Amino acid sequence: MQRLRVIIRGAVQGVGFRPFVYRLATEMKLPGWVVNSSQGVFIEVEGDSLKLGKFLERIDKEKPANAFIQSMETSYLAPAGYCEFEVRQSDGSGAKTALIMPDLATCEDCFREIFEPSDRRYRYPFTNCTNCGPRFSIIENLPYDRVNTSMKAFVMCDRCLDEYNDPSDRRFHAQPNACPICGPQLALWNSRGKVLETREEALQGAVDAVRRGEIVAIKGLGGFHIMVDARNEEAVRRLRQLKNREEKPFAVMFPSLDSVMESCTVSALERRILLSPESPIVLVRRKESHGAAIVADSVAPGNPNLGVVLPYTPLHHLLMTELAFPVVATSGNRADEPICTDEHEALERLKGVAELFLVHDRPIVRHVDDSIVRLMAGRELVIRRARGYAPLPIMLKHEVPSALAVGAHLKNTVAVSVGQQVFSSQHIGDLETEQAYDAFEHVIESLTNMYGVEAVDVVCDLHPDYISTKFAGTLGKPLLQVQHHYAHLLSCAAENEISPPFLGAAWDGTGYGTDGTIWGGEFLLVTETGFARAGHLRTFPLPGGERAIVEPRRAALGVLFQIFGDAALEMDDIPAVSSFSKDERNIVRKILKSGINCPITSSAGRLFDAVCSIVGKRQLARYEGQAAMELEYACDSIDESGCYPFVIIDEAERKIIDWQQIILHVIGDLKRDQSTNVIAARFHNTMSEIIVEMAKRVGEKQVALSGGCFQNKYLTERTVRRLESEGFAPFWHQRIPANDGGISLGQIAALAGRERRE
Ligand code: ZN
Ligand code: ZN
Ligand code: FE
Repeated sequence: MQRLRVIIRGAVQGVGFRPFVYRLATEMKLPGWVVNSSQGVFIEVEGDSLKLGKFLERIDKEKPANAFIQSMETSYLAPAGYCEFEVRQSDGSGAKTALIMPDLATCEDCFREIFEPSDRRYRYPFTNCTNCGPRFSIIENLPYDRVNTSMKAFVMCDRCLDEYNDPSDRRFHAQPNACPICGPQLALWNSRGKVLETREEALQGAVDAVRRGEIVAIKGLGGFHIMVDARNEEAVRRLRQLKNREEKPFAVMFPSLDSVMESCTVSALERRILLSPESPIVLVRRKESHGAAIVADSVAPGNPNLGVVLPYTPLHHLLMTELAFPVVATSGNRADEPICTDEHEALERLKGVAELFLVHDRPIVRHVDDSIVRLMAGRELVIRRARGYAPLPIMLKHEVPSALAVGAHLKNTVAVSVGQQVFSSQHIGDLETEQAYDAFEHVIESLTNMYGVEAVDVVCDLHPDYISTKFAGTLGKPLLQVQHHYAHLLSCAAENEISPPFLGAAWDGTGYGTDGTIWGGEFLLVTETGFARAGHLRTFPLPGGERAIVEPRRAALGVLFQIFGDAALEMDDIPAVSSFSKDERNIVRKILKSGINCPITSSAGRLFDAVCSIVGKRQLARYEGQAAMELEYACDSIDESGCYPFVIIDEAERKIIDWQQIILHVIGDLKRDQSTNVIAARFHNTMSEIIVEMAKRVGEKQVALSGGCFQNKYLTERTVRRLESEGFAPFWHQRIPANDGGISLGQIAALAGRERRE
């Protein structure tokens, strides 16, 4: 039994939507309620997950003819025990904050127009209406009027103006309304910014170039994409080389859902998400290729999944219909910088990567990346929250004073609070480069301005060296520093609307602990007044510190050193050890013995890395998290229920989970030539059992799972299943990332908790 909350925004007021929902819920015997508010239509129903999924599908399919859904947010919550379905009266109160809509994928009506030769918007790449098109990416200021958007420079022609002023027209008050006569236009530039073609010829020029295997930068909705023929192995490799991106998977845009289904297995829920107005990148399973695979191997090397996205603007529809084959659609940036939004800037920053630039003259006010979604335990999990989702608010249970939260360091997002609402920014990225830092400041300024937030308080991470922490310190406001893993867990609790006490497993790569060491395999008992560190993974040294992120074998050596001491460096039959040369080994030995540049950590993420390295799967990671991901993929074709033994040591203040037996058994299996797939599955199963055992010992019914490790589908789904079968109530992420992208929300939630206590 679950409670499903649905928030629907769009043209749903005054079209008979409430009676429709009432009839549907009553027919399906789902108790709950529906209410109209200034923020949209809110629905809650209770039932089993199968029925709830069906309910969502039927809302989409059977909605009243005049209703249009611009955004449908769903969250599964703990049941409230409803008996019947009722239509609740709108109380007229609620949040008065103006709602800024995310950018919306092209609607069916606009899609029809751009492919209808007799329509005046035939093949016009900037067609939009009240139900679709750019929003968040063009807003400069509130209220949301054309003069406050980047469309202000375009003067509507008479026909567009008539539509705009006609209440019966689909384009009534559609702020970005435009047509081929009066609106933005395409141009094709060479790498020096010389205009080669304009309008339709520009589009054709880009299409021809992609067909020829060239790399084309394309200015889209919230920034630039770099596109290349996804079937063309040589072209994809060249892009990897030029972009300096060795193996990190590329997202692929397919021309249609049918074409996705030729290459991938797509469930009903995945199909709905792919076709939704949010239109994110969805991680779906590739089909085992029979014969030649359609998508080149180097698009996502060694990865059973593919990040796929469908065209979501008229420009993308026109391009993809012409091409009729999948293309790599990766962010227009170098390495992990924020995406380019301006065509002149793109010429500079993408110099040497793209040969041609398909640009347009509608300015992008803020960068908005493609969002990424993965199915987790039958629900949507947003891994990267940007286009289609940002800046929709998360509602807290209680009011919070106006505050700004600056997030963590990697996968940074920031958040502001207004009343009960938290507006989390779009994904900003790793604050490693000047560009990222500029974007960080820019987002903070625009988010606080837009919502008129005079931040009373500023919340940041406990890590003194995070750039975000340092920035927070310069603002001269009361500062609250929140422990990283506590923030992870509070973000999970906030979106699941659970109240303390609960036990949280916060597992990730690294986070600064209250004792100044690096945490990452934490069990925190969260109460009304704060948290206690109920337990953590046994610590181990990380020789070379940060370098262990890109060298999983360093984590492995740390773990082995912790068990075997010096002898670990001579264990040549273990791939992790033998991958080091004699010289390298001597250096690492010195580091381990001296403890200099060798932090001690309880990180779960690094333990996954270590095991991946010990079994010989990967010694050097080409991108963050690669080793742990490969270990996950190794076990998902395996039906293995075995576990390794582990020990939980009861110390005075907390429990230490000792993984020594796990590692010894991994080595034992390795020596018996057990397949790495089986070892990987057993290791994952064991990590799940650790959470179940800790839940039993701590004795809290509610268990929250947060931190980057819970993007791991095998781990999360198994842990959820096991906790449920043992009578616990597990909670995991849905609309907010489990990774550090969720930290800013957790920071605001920590402030809210403190305020309530005072
Ligand atoms: Zn439309
Ligand atoms: Zn016009
Ligand atoms: Fe984290």
